[in-house]
Amino acid sequence: MMPTFVIAIDGPAASGKSSVSKLLARRLHCAHVNSGALYRAAAWGILESGADPTDPAAVTAAAHTLQLDWAPDRQDFTLLVNGQDPGPHLRDAAVAASVSPVASVPAVRDIITAFLRHMAEGRSLIMEGRDIGSVVFPETPYKFYIDASEEIRLSRRLAQGETDSPLSRDRQDSTRKTAPLKIAEDALVIDSTHLSLDAVVQQALDGLTARGLAIPAE
Ligand code: C5P
Repeated sequence: MMPTFVIAIDGPAASGKSSVSKLLARRLHCAHVNSGALYRAAAWGILESGADPTDPAAVTAAAHTLQLDWAPDRQDFTLLVNGQDPGPHLRDAAVAASVSPVASVPAVRDIITAFLRHMAEGRSLIMEGRDIGSVVFPETPYKFYIDASEEIRLSRRLAQGETDSPLSRDRQDSTRKTAPLKIAEDALVIDSTHLSLDAVVQQALDGLTARGLAIPAE
């Protein structure tokens, strides 16, 4: 059996990490997990339960009743929350507004971190998020922090037709006590502000090669 690997891609909202992660997964023939979708799915489930997303005790109680399931689906994963597909709701304004407070609750982070580690058992994957290199898979040598200026991130979000406030989420995500967004000590930092997507992917591939990962021929 080929040894499996995990590539961690962290960074603030709209830094370009989703586009880079998807392209890298295609190039490396491995699965891709967007951990933000899991936090959004949990926030949706917690809102559906009627709990106040800004009340940590209520969020903790509701989180323990959530039934999260997943199934591998080619290069992606299908998620279920209490038997329902959360997909159509992940970009709802209510979810966008409550995901950072929900994600700051330690019980939620414990549940999702365990879930993410389980997803990586026996398979190679690229996982994007905020704490993948620092907390979820600190032992992987393959970790990146993708950044971009605030102006560029805001304009990318607007171009995607998103109206939520990524900078306010970043502030909440960077200042929370548990697993804040930060650059892991051994992460390779790529500033995508003035780079094309292809150039960012190439820098990531070069970094992976330098750290010993064999890149399959195209
Ligand atoms: O990646 P995305 O912007 O969809 O993430 C939504 C939210 O999920 C983030 O703003 C953050 O609060 C939370 N998140 C997190 N840890 C991760 C991934 C996402 O706290 N690893």
